[in-house]
Amino acid sequence: MNLCKIREIMPGLCKTFKENESLKEYTRLRIGGETPFYIKPLNWDSAKKIVKILKEENLPFKILGRGTNLLIYDGKLNFGVIHILNIEKKLEIENQFVRTSADVLLKETANQTFSRCLSGMEELSLIPGTVGGAVCTNAGAFGKEFFDIIKEINLINYSGDEVSLKPEEVEHFYRKTNIKDKGIVKSVLLKLKKEDEEVIQKKKNEFRKARETKQPYKERTCGSVFKNPEGDFAGRILEELGFKGKKNGNVSFSSLHSNFLIAEKNATFKEAFSLTEEAKMKAKEKGISLEYEMEIWKNEPA
Ligand SMILES: Cc1cc2nc3c(=O)[nH]c(=O)nc-3n(C[C@H](O)[C@H](O)[C@H](O)COP(=O)(O)OP(=O)(O)OC[C@H]3O[C@@H](n4cnc5c(N)ncnc54)[C@H](O)[C@@H]3O)c2cc1C
Repeated sequence: MNLCKIREIMPGLCKTFKENESLKEYTRLRIGGETPFYIKPLNWDSAKKIVKILKEENLPFKILGRGTNLLIYDGKLNFGVIHILNIEKKLEIENQFVRTSADVLLKETANQTFSRCLSGMEELSLIPGTVGGAVCTNAGAFGKEFFDIIKEINLINYSGDEVSLKPEEVEHFYRKTNIKDKGIVKSVLLKLKKEDEEVIQKKKNEFRKARETKQPYKERTCGSVFKNPEGDFAGRILEELGFKGKKNGNVSFSSLHSNFLIAEKNATFKEAFSLTEEAKMKAKEKGISLEYEMEIWKNEPA
């Protein structure tokens, strides 16, 4: 990978530009190898220039948010990373409309809406990623999806230009969108509704309690490993297959919720991936197709 040109230009456009940077500390699982270049843009204007330059230079890259949905290969990686977190956080609320930039945490956005007596984010408020990550994955919980409240998405496309899309212009399904074919999320416009403070508080507490009692919420996990197959639950299937609490070295399926992978200190990609692949294979033998909900970053063939 020839980094000569970006080595010259990037420092002026970035808060941080590092070569051969480990991604481990940027992920919730604390698993991840060295990326040839790690870029944290100075602001949104510089993010546009960075995307354009990387495309012109034909340098492959991925977008990293809070790293809460990722299992990353821990050897040398063959793609760079643009980190969209705490760049130039913007959050504006006017009546029922909320415009929030992609680098803000979903929970920060939710808390601001609650303080204005706006309802609609109670189910989503404890999903521990960024707004950008939530758009990309169509994050959801307790029957609510992020796309249910999105009115507009602002993107930086791969030519470095800004574009606005209506949610119906983006393919979105259960925990999946095609947003990254179009660009990088810069901000979203949400529409919420006015509600009594006590009603919001009650809903919030209900969802918090459900999470804290049923999920290993504070551990090093990446949320659900597999999507729920239609009409069933991945956790139930994994439990039936004997994976509840099952360990592989420093990684295990949680004994509180079988669909959560828990990484201990020194956990490796291989330990995690071989355990989840084994579960997938065992499910397949029973005629059940389990699809990953967590995203796996491995080296793609050059
Ligand atoms: C304890 C725990 C509980 C969880 N509970 C839930 C849950 O209830 N529901 C749920 O849906 N998820 C859940 N998750 C998973 C995760 O938090 C969500 O998927 C979250 O939306 C990911 O956001 P992130 O910023 O961490 O994204 P990352 O993990 O960094 O990235 C995820 C994807 O988003 C892309 N991306 C990130 N930012 C942008 C951007 N600005 N533009 C374009 N693409 C971008 C990345 O390239 C990647 O493809 C949970 C995770 C944990 C650890």
